[in-house]
Amino acid sequence: MAPSLTRRGLLAASALLPLGLRREAAGAATEARDRVGAFTVTPLRDGLFPLEPSMIPAADSAEGRSLLQAAGLPPGGPSPEPVNAFLIRRGARCWLLDAGCGTVLGPGFNRVTAALAAEGVRPDQVETIWLTHLHADHAGGLITPSGLARFPNAELVLQEAEAAHWSSAGARARAPAALVPFFDTAQAVLAAYDDRLRRVSGEAELAPGVHAVPLPGHTPGHMGVLVADGSERLLIWGDVVHARLLQLPHPDWTVIWDADPAQAVATRGRILDRAAAEGPRVAGMHMDIRGTVQRAGPGYRLVP
Ligand SMILES: [Zn+2]
Repeated sequence: MAPSLTRRGLLAASALLPLGLRREAAGAATEARDRVGAFTVTPLRDGLFPLEPSMIPAADSAEGRSLLQAAGLPPGGPSPEPVNAFLIRRGARCWLLDAGCGTVLGPGFNRVTAALAAEGVRPDQVETIWLTHLHADHAGGLITPSGLARFPNAELVLQEAEAAHWSSAGARARAPAALVPFFDTAQAVLAAYDDRLRRVSGEAELAPGVHAVPLPGHTPGHMGVLVADGSERLLIWGDVVHARLLQLPHPDWTVIWDADPAQAVATRGRILDRAAAEGPRVAGMHMDIRGTVQRAGPGYRLVP
């Protein structure tokens, strides 16, 4: 049976993390902030997700084992991958990009609110939340366990195609079993923010200096965000990569949660190519480091 990103699957998987990594997952929730011109971008660590090679089926191979082993990880996995949201500030303005899992995926997550508090930000001070996509590890933190909005004053902005997909009864009926629970969370989030939802299309300007970057495939309306000021640029590319060690050398390796695996591969290739050519710093929801992308053999690598 395919492993799934369900509460039970995660509970089983988190027991597989080495003790030191479990401690790290429970530790500090904020990391070094990035300055992009007048913007300050701070990763907010929601938790650590134990990614098993079977979640990237092509990585369940001699090549996958050798990449994990070369990085000092158990060759059979798991590879501990962060779940990040990002706080983006400029002057007095305060935005959030994604919100982590909240309580939707069990214990070990739900640290975004504490990480925000450590930055001196209360949920009612967040004016807008940009959402890369509606998967539970990005949107679950938008609601309380009883389904209320955690950010009482925030507008929620996402791609039109994303809202449409997760609202569609047909898409739900066609979804593989592992993805069906995602519809419940997505629909609860859309309902909680119904009166202050803003749907955008394509490369919309989200705020002065902040643009949406459509990256469809992982989900139909999956997007990244490009923060730019002067010559400085940071591309936060959402879920283009779930396992840096495996998917940068092998951009054609897909995760089991991709809505359209072929489109996800094409999108990953296109954005990696663009990042290697244009040279912005990149960050991701499931990446432990930020850096620039370089071509390396048939794949890519991230240079911190
Ligand atoms: Zn994700």
